[in-house]
Amino acid sequence: MIEQQSLILPKGDITVDVAIIDTTTRIGGVPGSHYMAPATKYPSLSKSIAPKPSHSFLITHPPSNTRVLFDLGLRIDWQIATSRPILRSIQNGSMRVRVEKDVASILYEGGVDPASIDAVVFSHHHFDHTGDPTRFSQTMKVVVGPGYREAYLPGWPAAKQKWETTSDLYRGRDVVEISYANSLTSGRGLRIGGFETYDYFGDGAFYLLHTPGHTVGHLSALARTTLPAHDSDTATFIFLGGDVAHECALLRPSAAHPLPDQISSRDGPRVHALHREYTVNDGGETAKKSPFCTATGPHSDVAAAQQSIDALQAFDGASNVFVALAHDPDLLDVVELFPGVANQWRKRGWKERCHWRFLKALFPELGFGWVGERENKM
Ligand SMILES: [Zn+2]
Repeated sequence: MIEQQSLILPKGDITVDVAIIDTTTRIGGVPGSHYMAPATKYPSLSKSIAPKPSHSFLITHPPSNTRVLFDLGLRIDWQIATSRPILRSIQNGSMRVRVEKDVASILYEGGVDPASIDAVVFSHHHFDHTGDPTRFSQTMKVVVGPGYREAYLPGWPAAKQKWETTSDLYRGRDVVEISYANSLTSGRGLRIGGFETYDYFGDGAFYLLHTPGHTVGHLSALARTTLPAHDSDTATFIFLGGDVAHECALLRPSAAHPLPDQISSRDGPRVHALHREYTVNDGGETAKKSPFCTATGPHSDVAAAQQSIDALQAFDGASNVFVALAHDPDLLDVVELFPGVANQWRKRGWKERCHWRFLKALFPELGFGWVGERENKM
């Protein structure tokens, strides 16, 4: 187990407004064993599990009146616009994909003019995150992590071997590849929780974070959501994960937020004994402080992906950081979605209500249940 250091978050006096958008994307039929281990220990990982969403986030920066999106979910016309190799793998594989609306329409219906969006940040190039920028203004920038251009552009069909993304997403558009090294020399970068950062607006309100492993240049973001209200109070943040971790079982429990004896029911002790690290020799202590699962599968660098996950645990264990992973279905049960704003998440108790819900899918045999669950059917 990695030693956790206490998390030091930067000071600042500017916040951004964060809205969590349900992109209506649902991706089903992919068993957890595709990206998590050990499947030998948890039978649920080998089954085709429930459809997962792919969240997008609207960031509004009041001082500059700038709006930025973080990820876009699936594009509405994916069946004709996605590259042929991806379509073939969907046709021949178990993955099921569905989307009802694109983010531009969702924004419009929620009272936000899509033409007012200044930039979209892609956590990475996968088609369930990049949506369809052509539905926005031609002046909207695409912001990506280091190495993205060389690894994935110009995309399909401009370069047949670059089929993981499509050329039309970038055509005629400013593609800004951020550089953490430059941000350090320009004074816009500092390390937060072990991650290199890029201070997007230059005022500490919204950072892009270098969270490598899943893909080349994969990035996450950290948004300051509230300022300290009293001397003893702390600022709050939302961590926009992208695919830094596919599921909460990769983050929880942790040294920073150990498994409690009681969760939602009488099943706390039973869950504890099912943990991959559980042993009576140490009284189950290691199991209480290690995530149920580890990373495996189709990452560009599995070891780096695991390192990013290890570092993320300190954020996830902090009571003033709300970690929102792109594919976390439990957010849909708990949070107020766009056009609502998520900034008051701590006051509204979202973190506590979300934190252990992943156990329901990991251990269906234990029959965990929470009040107010929404049905999430394909
Ligand atoms: Zn991905």
